[in-house]
Amino acid sequence: MITTRFAPSPTGPLHLGHAYAALFAERRAREAGGRFLLRIEDIDETRCRPEFTAAIFADLAWLGLVFETPVRVQSAHFGDYRGVLDQLAARGLLYPCFCTRADIARASRARTPDGAPLYPGTCRALPAERRAALLAAGTPHAFRLDMAAALAACPGPLSHHEAGRGQIPCHPERFGDVVLGRKDCPASYHLAVTHDDAIQGVTLVTRGEDLRPATDLHRLLQALMGWKAPQYAHHRLITDAGGARLAKRTGAAGLRTLGLTPAEIRARLGF
Ligand code: GLU
Repeated sequence: MITTRFAPSPTGPLHLGHAYAALFAERRAREAGGRFLLRIEDIDETRCRPEFTAAIFADLAWLGLVFETPVRVQSAHFGDYRGVLDQLAARGLLYPCFCTRADIARASRARTPDGAPLYPGTCRALPAERRAALLAAGTPHAFRLDMAAALAACPGPLSHHEAGRGQIPCHPERFGDVVLGRKDCPASYHLAVTHDDAIQGVTLVTRGEDLRPATDLHRLLQALMGWKAPQYAHHRLITDAGGARLAKRTGAAGLRTLGLTPAEIRARLGF
């Protein structure tokens, strides 16, 4: 049984790129007689707003998309993500990082495949007493995966199954000591998305090509936690007339402001 999901972050109105992702996921499930889930990825409480969550429900209904209920809303499950962090910490795979963005920018200009600064490992080497003192003083900190230790805990090559292409080798080491618990919340996108796909029984992760590099890291987290690996279908991104990817950040137009009917939106996107 195929289970797919559409997993938007409620940081703004849905645009055509979201509609494509939702229709793509729904079609893959429907064609296979499978399940289609909606998941609200709202761990970033500074950027996500309840009114955008409400608008996602309304826009999907307007598009004629039917998903299973109840819908998982990530902000209601921080305890689950904290539990995973605790398990990784108990296995010596996680360490607190007290660096600020400026500290990291000064120490390294390199980038991870998803464009984040590549962490130079400063806090991995902190003497135990210094680490304890900083924690005791309540110094704000994130939790980072000790990538070398994680790779040692998962020997053997990792790969992911890409629809239509088969097994593709993964190189999670390119992410370095990635943040799994943010300073402002006990989760990160990478942790929450892999945890939730696993516990919700998602068997086919459909999402835009921009997230393909993250899949390498997600496979490592799945291997570390013993979560079953889903298959993946990374799809094309919808661009504007100038060829730029539609994004909330750059003010992509909300679906309902386009003056198109749901049928016209489906047709324009090739559904
Ligand atoms: N929440 C992510 C986003 O809005 C998508 C997560 C995923 O599909 O893996 O970009």
